[in-house]
Amino acid sequence: MTDELKLRECPFCGSANIELDAYAESYPTVRCTCCDAKIEVRYGKKIAAEAWNTRPAEDALRAENARMKDLIGIARNLELGLRKDM
Ligand SMILES: [Zn+2]
Repeated sequence: MTDELKLRECPFCGSANIELDAYAESYPTVRCTCCDAKIEVRYGKKIAAEAWNTRPAEDALRAENARMKDLIGIARNLELGLRKDM
């Protein structure tokens, strides 16, 4: 991971060991050193990092998962409140 461009974890194995190839500015590669998942993007390192970090489906699922966890917590608290009233 570079100091300037923050890279998300690997979407396949979850590893945080992600490299942004420093050798080719015109064809940079973002690669997971754990499972070797990678993307190659023209137009520079910043665009490559943004492409690696952009995951709309994963982000939507994570947001929905967080909402579901919140609802489960509310339901458990309501259940506990009902039990106290019995
Ligand atoms: Zn990986």
